[in-house]
Amino acid sequence: SNFEDFGLDSRLLRALSKLSFVKPTLVQSHIIPLALSGKDILARARTGSGKTAAYSLPVIQKILKAKENADYDSSSATRALILVPTRELAEQVTKQVNKMLIYCSKQLKIVNVAGNMPVQLQKPILAEEPDIIVATPSKVAAHLESQNLDIRNSLETLVIDEADLILSYGYEEDLQKILSYLPNVYQSFLMSATMTKDVESLKKLILRDPVILNL
Ligand code: AMP
Repeated sequence: SNFEDFGLDSRLLRALSKLSFVKPTLVQSHIIPLALSGKDILARARTGSGKTAAYSLPVIQKILKAKENADYDSSSATRALILVPTRELAEQVTKQVNKMLIYCSKQLKIVNVAGNMPVQLQKPILAEEPDIIVATPSKVAAHLESQNLDIRNSLETLVIDEADLILSYGYEEDLQKILSYLPNVYQSFLMSATMTKDVESLKKLILRDPVILNL
Protein backbone atom coordinates (compact mmCIF):
# COMPACT_ATOMS: atom_id res chain seq x y z
CA SER A 1 0.00 0.00 0.00
CA ASN A 2 0.88 3.67 -0.23
CA PHE A 3 0.27 6.52 2.20
CA GLU A 4 -2.02 8.07 -0.45
CA ASP A 5 -4.34 5.03 -0.18
CA PHE A 6 -5.28 5.86 3.41
CA GLY A 7 -7.07 9.09 2.58
CA LEU A 8 -4.77 11.13 4.79
CA ASP A 9 -4.92 14.93 4.84
CA SER A 10 -2.74 16.48 2.14
CA ARG A 11 -0.72 18.33 4.77
CA LEU A 12 0.24 14.98 6.28
CA LEU A 13 1.11 13.50 2.91
CA ARG A 14 3.38 16.46 2.21
CA ALA A 15 5.10 16.04 5.57
CA LEU A 16 5.61 12.32 4.94
CA SER A 17 7.17 13.02 1.61
CA LYS A 18 9.43 15.67 3.17
CA LEU A 19 10.46 13.06 5.77
CA SER A 20 11.21 10.66 2.90
CA PHE A 21 8.67 8.15 4.20
CA VAL A 22 8.10 6.67 0.76
CA LYS A 23 6.16 3.53 1.67
CA PRO A 24 4.29 2.56 4.83
CA THR A 25 6.06 -0.04 6.95
CA LEU A 26 4.29 -3.36 7.59
CA VAL A 27 3.00 -2.12 10.94
CA GLN A 28 1.77 1.12 9.38
CA SER A 29 0.00 -0.56 6.49
CA HIS A 30 -1.97 -2.71 8.96
CA ILE A 31 -2.62 -0.20 11.71
CA ILE A 32 -3.44 3.00 9.81
CA PRO A 33 -6.57 1.85 7.91
CA LEU A 34 -7.98 0.03 10.95
CA ALA A 35 -7.30 2.99 13.20
CA LEU A 36 -8.96 5.36 10.74
CA SER A 37 -12.01 3.11 10.62
CA GLY A 38 -12.42 3.66 14.36
CA LYS A 39 -11.26 0.29 15.68
CA ASP A 40 -9.49 -0.26 18.97
CA ILE A 41 -6.14 -1.93 18.32
CA LEU A 42 -3.69 -4.06 20.22
CA ALA A 43 -0.50 -4.32 18.19
CA ARG A 44 2.73 -6.11 18.81
CA ALA A 45 5.18 -3.56 17.51
CA ARG A 46 8.71 -2.84 18.54
CA THR A 47 10.90 0.22 18.18
CA GLY A 48 12.08 0.51 14.60
CA SER A 49 8.85 -0.88 13.13
CA GLY A 50 7.46 2.58 12.43
CA LYS A 51 4.95 2.25 15.27
CA THR A 52 5.05 5.92 16.24
CA ALA A 53 3.80 7.09 12.85
CA ALA A 54 1.41 4.12 12.73
CA TYR A 55 -0.59 5.41 15.68
CA SER A 56 0.10 9.12 15.41
CA LEU A 57 -0.97 9.61 11.79
CA PRO A 58 -4.53 8.41 12.57
CA VAL A 59 -4.53 10.51 15.75
CA ILE A 60 -3.56 13.63 13.80
CA GLN A 61 -5.96 12.86 10.95
CA LYS A 62 -8.86 12.47 13.39
CA ILE A 63 -8.06 15.76 15.09
CA LEU A 64 -7.70 17.70 11.85
CA LYS A 65 -11.13 16.40 10.79
CA ALA A 66 -12.72 17.17 14.16
CA LYS A 67 -11.37 20.70 14.09
CA GLU A 68 -12.65 21.32 10.60
CA ASN A 69 -16.12 20.36 11.77
CA ALA A 70 -15.99 22.14 15.12
CA ASP A 71 -17.23 25.63 15.74
CA TYR A 72 -14.80 28.15 17.17
CA ASP A 73 -15.67 27.53 20.83
CA SER A 74 -15.16 23.82 20.77
CA SER A 75 -12.10 23.80 18.54
CA SER A 76 -9.65 23.92 21.43
CA ALA A 77 -9.62 20.74 23.48
CA THR A 78 -7.26 17.96 24.41
CA ARG A 79 -8.36 15.16 22.14
CA ALA A 80 -5.54 12.65 22.40
CA LEU A 81 -3.34 11.30 25.14
CA ILE A 82 -0.18 9.33 24.40
CA LEU A 83 1.16 7.50 27.45
CA VAL A 84 4.75 6.28 27.42
CA PRO A 85 6.97 4.63 30.05
CA THR A 86 9.93 7.02 29.96
CA ARG A 87 10.90 10.65 29.47
CA GLU A 88 13.21 9.61 26.66
CA LEU A 89 10.44 7.95 24.70
CA ALA A 90 8.19 10.94 25.35
CA GLU A 91 10.82 13.15 23.74
CA GLN A 92 11.28 10.86 20.75
CA VAL A 93 7.54 10.57 20.16
CA THR A 94 6.97 14.32 20.47
CA LYS A 95 9.82 15.03 18.08
CA GLN A 96 8.52 12.57 15.52
CA VAL A 97 4.95 13.81 15.74
CA ASN A 98 6.09 17.41 15.39
CA LYS A 99 7.86 16.45 12.17
CA MET A 100 4.59 15.12 10.82
CA LEU A 101 2.88 18.35 11.89
CA ILE A 102 5.12 20.77 10.01
CA TYR A 103 2.37 21.74 7.55
CA CYS A 104 -0.39 22.02 10.15
CA SER A 105 1.45 23.28 13.21
CA LYS A 106 -0.90 26.25 13.55
CA GLN A 107 -3.97 24.02 13.66
CA LEU A 108 -2.62 21.37 15.96
CA LYS A 109 -0.44 21.47 19.06
CA ILE A 110 1.27 18.62 20.86
CA VAL A 111 2.95 19.04 24.24
CA ASN A 112 5.25 16.77 26.16
CA VAL A 113 4.75 16.98 29.91
CA ALA A 114 6.90 13.96 30.78
CA GLY A 115 9.86 16.17 31.71
CA ASN A 116 10.95 16.82 35.27
CA MET A 117 9.30 20.22 35.47
CA PRO A 118 7.07 20.25 38.58
CA VAL A 119 3.40 19.56 37.94
CA GLN A 120 2.28 22.99 39.14
CA LEU A 121 4.65 24.75 36.73
CA GLN A 122 3.20 22.75 33.85
CA LYS A 123 -0.30 23.91 34.70
CA PRO A 124 -0.36 26.87 32.24
CA ILE A 125 0.77 24.58 29.42
CA LEU A 126 -2.23 22.34 29.96
CA ALA A 127 -4.58 25.28 30.45
CA GLU A 128 -4.07 25.99 26.75
CA GLU A 129 -5.71 22.66 25.99
CA PRO A 130 -3.11 21.19 23.64
CA ASP A 131 -4.67 18.83 21.11
CA ILE A 132 -2.26 16.03 21.98
CA ILE A 133 -0.51 15.36 25.28
CA VAL A 134 2.48 13.03 25.57
CA ALA A 135 3.40 11.98 29.08
CA THR A 136 4.23 9.25 31.53
CA PRO A 137 1.25 7.86 33.47
CA SER A 138 2.40 9.40 36.76
CA LYS A 139 2.44 12.92 35.32
CA VAL A 140 -0.98 12.57 33.76
CA ALA A 141 -2.46 11.07 36.93
CA ALA A 142 -1.03 13.96 38.96
CA HIS A 143 -2.45 16.55 36.57
CA LEU A 144 -5.87 14.93 36.56
CA GLU A 145 -5.96 14.72 40.34
CA SER A 146 -4.92 18.34 40.80
CA GLN A 147 -7.49 19.39 38.18
CA ASN A 148 -4.90 20.93 35.88
CA LEU A 149 -6.36 18.72 33.23
CA ASP A 150 -9.94 17.80 32.47
CA ILE A 151 -10.44 15.52 29.49
CA ARG A 152 -13.67 13.85 30.49
CA ASN A 153 -15.56 15.64 27.75
CA SER A 154 -12.86 15.97 25.14
CA LEU A 155 -10.68 12.88 24.91
CA GLU A 156 -11.16 10.96 21.68
CA THR A 157 -8.07 8.78 21.50
CA LEU A 158 -5.87 7.08 24.08
CA VAL A 159 -2.54 5.58 23.05
CA ILE A 160 -0.46 3.46 25.35
CA ASP A 161 2.97 2.98 23.81
CA GLU A 162 5.36 0.31 25.12
CA ALA A 163 2.52 -1.00 27.27
CA ASP A 164 4.64 -3.92 28.50
CA LEU A 165 7.25 -1.53 29.88
CA ILE A 166 4.61 0.78 31.36
CA LEU A 167 3.31 -2.15 33.39
CA SER A 168 6.71 -3.50 34.37
CA TYR A 169 7.69 -0.03 35.61
CA GLY A 170 4.81 -0.20 38.07
CA TYR A 171 2.53 2.38 36.47
CA GLU A 172 -0.57 0.20 36.85
CA GLU A 173 -2.02 2.22 39.72
CA ASP A 174 -1.54 5.48 37.80
CA LEU A 175 -3.21 3.92 34.77
CA GLN A 176 -6.20 2.88 36.87
CA LYS A 177 -6.45 6.40 38.21
CA ILE A 178 -6.25 7.90 34.71
CA LEU A 179 -9.01 5.60 33.45
CA SER A 180 -11.37 6.93 36.10
CA TYR A 181 -11.01 10.42 34.60
CA LEU A 182 -11.68 9.44 31.00
CA PRO A 183 -14.95 9.65 29.06
CA ASN A 184 -17.08 6.54 28.60
CA VAL A 185 -16.24 6.23 24.95
CA TYR A 186 -12.92 6.80 23.23
CA GLN A 187 -10.72 4.94 20.77
CA SER A 188 -7.63 3.17 22.14
CA PHE A 189 -4.39 1.89 20.69
CA LEU A 190 -2.21 -0.37 22.78
CA MET A 191 1.31 -0.90 21.44
CA SER A 192 3.57 -3.49 23.00
CA ALA A 193 6.80 -5.22 22.00
CA THR A 194 5.72 -8.34 23.89
CA MET A 195 2.33 -9.81 24.68
CA THR A 196 2.63 -10.50 28.39
CA LYS A 197 -0.13 -11.49 30.82
CA ASP A 198 -0.13 -7.92 32.08
CA VAL A 199 -0.72 -6.58 28.59
CA GLU A 200 -3.55 -9.09 28.23
CA SER A 201 -5.24 -7.74 31.36
CA LEU A 202 -4.70 -4.16 30.22
CA LYS A 203 -6.35 -5.11 26.95
CA LYS A 204 -9.41 -6.36 28.82
CA LEU A 205 -9.49 -3.22 30.91
CA ILE A 206 -9.18 -0.68 28.11
CA LEU A 207 -9.99 -2.02 24.67
CA ARG A 208 -13.46 -2.54 23.20
CA ASP A 209 -13.77 -5.31 20.64
CA PRO A 210 -10.15 -4.75 19.55
CA VAL A 211 -8.31 -5.90 16.49
CA ILE A 212 -5.22 -7.79 17.55
CA LEU A 213 -2.21 -7.45 15.29
CA ASN A 214 0.60 -9.88 15.96
CA LEU A 215 2.93 -8.51 13.34
P1 AMP B 1 9.58 3.87 15.38
O1 AMP B 1 9.37 2.39 15.25
O2 AMP B 1 8.30 4.61 15.45
O3 AMP B 1 10.48 4.19 16.53
O4 AMP B 1 10.27 4.40 14.05
C1 AMP B 1 11.57 4.02 13.69
C2 AMP B 1 12.18 4.95 12.65
O5 AMP B 1 11.64 4.69 11.38
C3 AMP B 1 11.96 6.41 12.92
O6 AMP B 1 13.20 7.07 12.86
C4 AMP B 1 11.08 6.89 11.81
O7 AMP B 1 11.44 8.19 11.42
C5 AMP B 1 11.34 5.89 10.70
N1 AMP B 1 10.15 5.62 9.87
C6 AMP B 1 8.89 5.40 10.32
N2 AMP B 1 8.06 5.13 9.30
C7 AMP B 1 8.79 5.17 8.17
C8 AMP B 1 8.49 4.97 6.78
N3 AMP B 1 7.27 4.66 6.36
N4 AMP B 1 9.50 5.10 5.89
C9 AMP B 1 10.74 5.39 6.32
N5 AMP B 1 11.09 5.59 7.60
C10 AMP B 1 10.14 5.48 8.53
